Amino acid sequence: MRVHVSNEMLERMDRPGPRYTSYPTVPAWTTEFGEAQWREALEDLKSQPDRDVSLYMHLPYCVKRCHYCGCNAAIPDSKGDIDRYLDHLERELDVVAGLLGRRQVVQMHWGGGTPNYQSNEQLRRTYELAADRFDLVGEISIECDPRAAKPDQPHFLRELGFNRISMGVQDFDLTVQKAIGRRQPEKVTQRFVDSSRAAAFESVNLDLVYGLPHQTPEVFGESLRKVIDLSPDRLAVFGYAHVPWSKPNQDAIDPAQLPSGPERFALYQQAVETLTEAGYVWIGLDHFARKDDELAVALSEKRLHRNFMGYSTRPAMDMLAFGNSAIGDVCDRFAQNATLVGGYEEALAAGRLPVVKGMRLSDDDRLRRSVILHLMCNLELPWNLTVSGYGQRVEELIPGVMEGLAPLAVEGLITLDEDSLKVTDLGRYFLRNVAMVFDAYLQTGGDKPLYSRTV
Ligand code: SF4
Repeated sequence: MRVHVSNEMLERMDRPGPRYTSYPTVPAWTTEFGEAQWREALEDLKSQPDRDVSLYMHLPYCVKRCHYCGCNAAIPDSKGDIDRYLDHLERELDVVAGLLGRRQVVQMHWGGGTPNYQSNEQLRRTYELAADRFDLVGEISIECDPRAAKPDQPHFLRELGFNRISMGVQDFDLTVQKAIGRRQPEKVTQRFVDSSRAAAFESVNLDLVYGLPHQTPEVFGESLRKVIDLSPDRLAVFGYAHVPWSKPNQDAIDPAQLPSGPERFALYQQAVETLTEAGYVWIGLDHFARKDDELAVALSEKRLHRNFMGYSTRPAMDMLAFGNSAIGDVCDRFAQNATLVGGYEEALAAGRLPVVKGMRLSDDDRLRRSVILHLMCNLELPWNLTVSGYGQRVEELIPGVMEGLAPLAVEGLITLDEDSLKVTDLGRYFLRNVAMVFDAYLQTGGDKPLYSRTV
């Protein structure tokens, strides 16, 4: 359903806000949480062998840094960099698997960077680093850059064991591609999609980005049409976050060429409308899936989960994460590795796990986490939601929450009754603003915001 949003309302809603792949979000974590605390979390996990585990591997290397990039990516200085990185990844896996013993992994994801920038030999080595130490079952997915792929690569990845593949498109328009420093001819994307289908991946997913320089409704409409023609199983449509103070590579983007707040919102709405009209189901914040896709089915059955990898159908409670900047989530503790490759390798070379910050969740954090993730997945919140043994109603546990929600109800973003909060069609576009009411740690960061814009 088309919703009308005034510019005044956009201004009121346009705030820096987390995307809530976790709660509490990274800016709330502390450097007082380090290796010793993380090892305790791993010991706890070891004593609970029935807990399902997910695994994330960060592979940071890319051909060239894109101007818009917000990832923890790196460009190799020499050919040996990737092999040396894999040596350190192996050390990290050895320590963690040594502590835990052989566990079943219900979901493994490789992100980056560009995981498929590696040679076939390196890809095999990386895969075996995980497969030799864990029992890999379920979803095994990889993020790819079609520009980095050799023709046989999708088949090779499928043979290794991957069953899901996703790739960045961002926008097909050449002017936009030039402005973001990512030239990716249509035929390269088309060939990679065709080759992935021929390799019989269970799911082929594409990523688009809105809010990029020179994007207009005409330009973005054309990209949406082309992407629909490629018929992916799932799509992610992310908003570009312009944060040059923390990602200096974005200085190459002229802010004058970026769409304004209302233009940005119109692009987001255009994506939602075009993709839903084409038969995709809008999942949570920024994902779209075919009606028969597992993700859409999980949404309709209220089995959707959210974690650092986005939306998922797997209720894995714990995530082990390897590589620079990787974020683990184990037994109510979060930990992040050193963000730069140098610091990551240095710690492992010295025999330490490379954890640089983290957090142990309090009971209040756990409750708020459940509330926020439930909201981000199901667009509603029953007041009697039971959280890890709590019996109280949510609004009794979170002082002040009703005061924070009331203005959003007046704006028409949510409805409130005795039993629950429900996000309206209009509120779906401002889901992060609704979740932010439940966040006890929100910081603005002043003129250098810590989060991307909610609009
Ligand atoms: S390919 Fe992806 S990770 Fe690598 S620089 Fe470009 S946007 Fe960043």
